[in-house]
Amino acid sequence: MTSETCPAPEHSNTRLFLFSDYHMHPQGHRVQRYTQELLQPWADSARRLGLTDIAFTDHDRYHGGIDFDEIDRLRERNPDLQIRAGIEMDNDPVHSGASRQWIEKNWNRLDFVLGSVHFLERADQMFDSVPNGAEQFEDRNIDEIYTDYFRRVRELIATGLVDTLAHLDLIKIHGHRPTADIGILVTQTLEFIRARDLAIELSTAGWRKPVNELYPSDSIIELAMEKGIPFTTASDAHSHVQLGENFANLAHKMSEIGIRKVCIFGTHKRAEVPLQL
Ligand SMILES: [Zn+2]
Ligand SMILES: [Zn+2]
Repeated sequence: MTSETCPAPEHSNTRLFLFSDYHMHPQGHRVQRYTQELLQPWADSARRLGLTDIAFTDHDRYHGGIDFDEIDRLRERNPDLQIRAGIEMDNDPVHSGASRQWIEKNWNRLDFVLGSVHFLERADQMFDSVPNGAEQFEDRNIDEIYTDYFRRVRELIATGLVDTLAHLDLIKIHGHRPTADIGILVTQTLEFIRARDLAIELSTAGWRKPVNELYPSDSIIELAMEKGIPFTTASDAHSHVQLGENFANLAHKMSEIGIRKVCIFGTHKRAEVPLQL
């Protein structure tokens, strides 16, 4: 699964117009109560970039800062944008219990839940912290880590609380590659995603990390396409200036690989939208 070769592009010179970013963190990495002052710059950045459909997906451990009434107010102030209330639910061993209760309680006010695996064996550190998370890979069997990671992804899917999987192959973040063929592992996971009728995101965040590669890899994207799994587009912005980061490169990649639709969500209902050229 390390090959990044693409099939012959059908329209390699076409530029798809990407209009949606479904992964962003207005609170960054701490609790910051939602206010118009916090949220409006994100709407302004979206408009400047030509994005018309955005989803706030703060980490679930900061759910205390999310205020649905403030999101409604932002919608009233920005009627030209579709603004979705979302959250990124992960496998945090300390905070997950309370977070999942909150997600269930607010299910009908949430448009969208991203599912992520950020934790392996250590409860005190996300393995995707850069650079410190790389410690968790030292002197370890990388194949076993990959197997463990994808098992955790399937556990997360099994909660039934996820609409879309975020950064599906995040485990590559620090550049560690499996020595064994992980095709079966990925296929099993994608089949589970398909069976649960979920989507996966195409995340440009991988291009700003040590691995310097889109999440997920081209080979995973191709397998997902074969299975009819739909995609969202995402930057995983932790500041409004990162919104839509590298979307021109993403559009080019999607064009080459033959993706012509993205999905959007309203109260967990998915619609697929054809991309304009
Ligand atoms: Zn994440
Ligand atoms: Zn995120």
